[in-house]
Amino acid sequence: KLHNTILELKGNIRVFCRVRPLLPDDGAGQEAPVISYPTSVESLGRSIDLLQSGQKYPFTFDKVFSHDASQQDVFVEISQLVQSALDGYKVIMLTIALGILAASFCSLEHGLGLVTPNLFILRNLFLYLFDATRNVCIFAYGQTGSGKTYTMMGRPEAPEQKGLIPRSLEQIFQTSQALSAQGWKYKMQASMLEIYNETIRDLLSVNQSSGSDSIRTENGVPGKQYTIKHDANGNTYVSDLTIVDVCSIKEISLLLRQAAQSRSVGKTQMNEQSSRSHFVFTLRISGVNEGTEQQVQGVLNLIDLAGSERLSKSGATGERLKETQAINKSLSSLSDVIFALAKKEDHVPFRNSKLTYLLQPCLGGDSKTLMVVNIAPNPSSVGESLCSLRFAARVN
Ligand code: ADP
Ligand code: MG
Repeated sequence: KLHNTILELKGNIRVFCRVRPLLPDDGAGQEAPVISYPTSVESLGRSIDLLQSGQKYPFTFDKVFSHDASQQDVFVEISQLVQSALDGYKVIMLTIALGILAASFCSLEHGLGLVTPNLFILRNLFLYLFDATRNVCIFAYGQTGSGKTYTMMGRPEAPEQKGLIPRSLEQIFQTSQALSAQGWKYKMQASMLEIYNETIRDLLSVNQSSGSDSIRTENGVPGKQYTIKHDANGNTYVSDLTIVDVCSIKEISLLLRQAAQSRSVGKTQMNEQSSRSHFVFTLRISGVNEGTEQQVQGVLNLIDLAGSERLSKSGATGERLKETQAINKSLSSLSDVIFALAKKEDHVPFRNSKLTYLLQPCLGGDSKTLMVVNIAPNPSSVGESLCSLRFAARVN
């Protein structure tokens, strides 16, 4: 347990890879596997090999989930991260901190080599203890059809196939209820938006234009200005965006359904827009302990990214070209930002896209980021799969 916690504090960016099972409509050539797992055949490992034209491309990530991995298998590996957005475990953390403090004094005698990593861990622990803001971002990346939406949303109607979003929310509500016995009161606020062609669209707006004859403006609702603003406290908000207070998992489920509905309206009107746009679910959590007056704040962002496939070979023009350019821009900005953060560079190019600008407070600083790279196992996707793995390896 202690070991896990230290591992988690070591760095703030994690990359998982998930391979979806072969599907009936994946087409011919399924007998020639393009993916293998060098270390084990189990559902969970760290390595993956991609085979293309007789070449083997090996990759290693924080976790690799094969086609055998269930939604629960994936959730188990992220639940701690979700938990940290709620963060009610300061007492346990304090105990661990004292233990490590003692350990690091002991190691002073064992030469300088041991001191530096311990100081690093200590620094993180103190940040954790005294800065009670916890920002978490979980992204699903991959080409269209690779399983991003399955990973994030799953099939909510089938309990065992629920994805990370419903599972995370269930965990958060359950834990917040359990912590109320210790005097914690939580307030949760949800918002859901879509970024399409570098334009924000509110998915929870009640006066959203719907119906087959209506024409959506670029912003979704005429007259509304969805602009991203950062306030003096380093928080981000989107002007005019609908923010809903939520008290139960039931309420959130309804909102998720409303958002899905809102996205599918876009889909029929605009060229499968849902695979060409980023979906951002945000849950703001603020907690106060009525006994100790401790306060915690957390933001959990769960993001189903636009399909990462390149469309250049299809000779995209007009709207399609504009979409592709917008997606390429935001996905490459995301990779640049994560790369710059991982390398601890001074300049992090947050402003290069709406997505990174929106998520700036949740990507930088002491926030935690997890990228789940989804891979389709069919031979005709191997080119895109290689691109996805390379993207992930860059930010890993
Ligand atoms: P994306 O959102 O990346 O375009 P989807 O999540 O829609 O892809 O997945 C494409 C199809 O594959 C869907 O029919 C989905 O239900 C199915 N699928 C994806 N991942 C899995 C999985 N791990 N297990 C079972 N079916 C999956
Ligand atoms: Mg999808």
